[in-house]
Amino acid sequence: MERVYNFSAGPSMLPLSVLKKAASELTQYGDSGMSVMEMSHRSKIYGEIFAKVKASLRRVLNVPETHEIIFMQGGATAQFAAVPLNLLGDRDSADYALTGVFSTNAYNEAKKYCSPRVVFSGEAEGFRRIPNQEELQLSDRAAYFHICSNNTIYGTAWNYVPETGSVPLVADMSSEILSRPVDFSRYGLVYAGVQKNMAPAGMAVVIVDKALIGKELPITPTIMSYAKFIKADSMLNTPPTYTIYMLGLVLDWVSDHGGLHGMNALRRERSDMLYDYLDSSSLFKPVAEVSSRSMMNVTFRTGSEELDAKFVKEAAAEGLVNLKGHRLAGGMRASIYNAMPVEGVYKLVDFMKKFERENR
Ligand SMILES: *Cc1c(COP(=O)(O)O)cnc(C)c1O
Repeated sequence: MERVYNFSAGPSMLPLSVLKKAASELTQYGDSGMSVMEMSHRSKIYGEIFAKVKASLRRVLNVPETHEIIFMQGGATAQFAAVPLNLLGDRDSADYALTGVFSTNAYNEAKKYCSPRVVFSGEAEGFRRIPNQEELQLSDRAAYFHICSNNTIYGTAWNYVPETGSVPLVADMSSEILSRPVDFSRYGLVYAGVQKNMAPAGMAVVIVDKALIGKELPITPTIMSYAKFIKADSMLNTPPTYTIYMLGLVLDWVSDHGGLHGMNALRRERSDMLYDYLDSSSLFKPVAEVSSRSMMNVTFRTGSEELDAKFVKEAAAEGLVNLKGHRLAGGMRASIYNAMPVEGVYKLVDFMKKFERENR
């Protein structure tokens, strides 16, 4: 079978050239006589791979020296607990904007450690939009303000950086990190599970302002302590060695394709193509409000569950797979991350036009 265009929300597509490079080194890395998977994480050769990946991540993302980069296991979900555990200090509240499933999960996890406040909830509106600055009643007593910058399930995104005064801004960027330039100096902390746009599953990347270290609660598990991970350079225990190596290959690929400016231009091209068609279609309707649209996860529906199911099935037969929306959102979702070729979206739109002609 040919490789398909995989619109999965995550784990998701990886660039073919990255997979081929990994395959060519699978059984033996350089002249090491072994696979990267078989290396001790304390070995000199793995230490070199690790240091190179971390330096490359800092360079590609343009992370300022004020911020540390940490690799942690447990995905983004572990960070829902790690964030309050590490950042609460002597505060007993934090502000949360609920713009979808993951931000709500993060809020519910924080309830175990403090009394978080909901400063916005989009639930009653079906999570179709992101609040504007005027709607956010932030408290200066909050330990931090938490947002999910790109809402993977509902297909919305914060298309601005909220002003938080002296309160650190924390963002879950799992489904958009590495797709656009980000000014990390505006964030106290950013975290992202890597399996959407960075690497195979197995860890989260945390980028944290060093000024926020030293506030962890005494109950913080060792495996979730930013301070301890920074001290051990993310080698407190065995890190996900192969995932980190794969991240390095993805970063090389991003660099070869114009870095984050190149990725940003591509994501605009892909999402414009899809939204332009959706706005002109009389069969398919985009779900997210225009000003809150995500360029990474595009949600749409026909209005008929039967037609939605027929579309998903027929698209898959054309090699356009995983277009079914999340069970909580319904309809369809096309996740178009960095590794989705523009051609894949072109083929999708072409197929949608044909489906529209046949089913109107
Ligand atoms: C996928 C996703 C998560 C959950 O990630 P895990 O690594 O599976 O824990 C959290 N937040 C966002 C925005 C996501 O897209």
